[in-house]
Amino acid sequence: MNLGLDGKVIIVTGGAKGIGEAISKSLAAEGATVVIAGRNEADNQKTVAAITAKGGQAMQVKAELGIVADCENLIDATVKAYGKIDGLVNNAGANDGVGLENGSPEAFMKSLQQNLSHYYNLAHFALPYLKQSKGSSILNIGSKVADTGQGNTSGYAASKGAINALTREWAVELLPYNIRVNTVIPAEVWTPLYETWINSLPDPKEKLKSITNNIPLGKRMTTAEEIADMSVFLISSRSSHTTGQIIYVDGGYTHLDRSLK
Ligand code: NAP
Repeated sequence: MNLGLDGKVIIVTGGAKGIGEAISKSLAAEGATVVIAGRNEADNQKTVAAITAKGGQAMQVKAELGIVADCENLIDATVKAYGKIDGLVNNAGANDGVGLENGSPEAFMKSLQQNLSHYYNLAHFALPYLKQSKGSSILNIGSKVADTGQGNTSGYAASKGAINALTREWAVELLPYNIRVNTVIPAEVWTPLYETWINSLPDPKEKLKSITNNIPLGKRMTTAEEIADMSVFLISSRSSHTTGQIIYVDGGYTHLDRSLK
């Protein structure tokens, strides 16, 4: 299937590592020009180099996405470099463990800023350009935590719940412009973030085993590439009549009967 991404300019936040890295590389392999945004310039450059070494097109913009001015600068830098924006992948986020007991009002607001505000800010600043592009779309990366809870992570859970709500809200607001908005929900994907989280637990090996045992399809983690495959399809105009959808790429982890063997 030709996804028609040749020459499309797509921003991927957190595009240097984990799920974002896989999305950046898949988009580039499909012919898109990828703008990788993240706070660590060396990480960004490494992924840009990996893409260009394979003949792909990419650039990076250093951005701490919790800062509004960095979000605005990311959009400006993209337009300055390529003159247009065809798609936005809102992906950057981290399960930062700001809970009721181990948090504070300040930490909660900071978590929203790190996990939620930039999804809105980037969509807001990119909108004039997305409107000019034909068949543009926004793809958000959410989390199963919005459905299941996890405990001790109020800021992250609130952000991911809001991202699901904004998917429907933006899909409606942007109907007149034919801009589609969808969200992909991962559950358990091995990435640098996941590795840090599991290693923070008392018995990481045992915990990992108990998690994978509960993943119905294949008793294994989802790969970042499996998240990327769905994401790239949804950002492309081959999914031209799909909008406002929240799609779980999780081996059935969130919804299927736990008694299934
Ligand atoms: P990751 O391995 O940590 O990669 C995320 C990248 O985004 C990193 O380069 C990180 O930089 C960057 N980043 C995060 N917040 C940023 C900010 N505010 N400003 C600038 N850069 C920022 O994470 P991942 O596991 O791929 O997660 C990607 C997305 O998937 C997140 O939205 C996460 O909530 C979601 N998700 C993941 C899983 C999973 O199992 N992995 C499950 C459910 C949902 P640093 O390295 O400097 O932090």
